Amino acid sequence: MANHILNGLGAAPILAQGFINGKRKGRQRTAHPKENAMQSLATVNIYFACTDCRVYVDAGYRWASWWLEEPRIVKRGNPVSVEAVFSAREYWSPSNTDSADWLRKEVLPSVRRFLAEHRRHRIVFGNTADFLSSDEDGFLDWMQVGFSPLLLPRYFVELLGFQTWDQVSSFIARQDNTPWWWMLEWDNIHDKARNKFQKLVESRTARPKSVHCKARAH
Ligand SMILES: [Zn+2]
Repeated sequence: MANHILNGLGAAPILAQGFINGKRKGRQRTAHPKENAMQSLATVNIYFACTDCRVYVDAGYRWASWWLEEPRIVKRGNPVSVEAVFSAREYWSPSNTDSADWLRKEVLPSVRRFLAEHRRHRIVFGNTADFLSSDEDGFLDWMQVGFSPLLLPRYFVELLGFQTWDQVSSFIARQDNTPWWWMLEWDNIHDKARNKFQKLVESRTARPKSVHCKARAH
């Protein structure tokens, strides 16, 4: 057990630094949900996910596994007690070293915000297979926020306020990491993402108009 923990402590920051510094050049893929399902034993990508809002956030790779999962503060695929997670002192206290920067500056602040924002909702801990629907395109209804997010249609509309697909294209062209679905012709996943984006933009622009019409009717 001690060896397992020591090995892991060394490996997690190295793994994450690759994302932070954008060292992995070219078209880096973010794991497809199906791949995540196969990796479930490898303890790589684990998240907190609000099933009410369909938003999820990176929980901190193995760091979350050691300090939340192993002490049984959380359990994969199960609803989370936000109070219990906030009380997990070790999870919130990584070392004050450069190798823990990714946790102190990126992962933990975003997790804290996420838990505070969704604390009255149903939050699940686990990998994507634990909360995404098995439906092929179900992931397009979700939004990842926080550390190194998979860029999805809702992110472009709700967080970045994009209104055209050209804005999405030029944004993605500037990223070191291209989302896996972007280049994929298989199953028209790129087109489905684009359609989803379009619907989101339309529903956003439709809403203020109807409010305006109602207001004028009075
Ligand atoms: Zn929520």
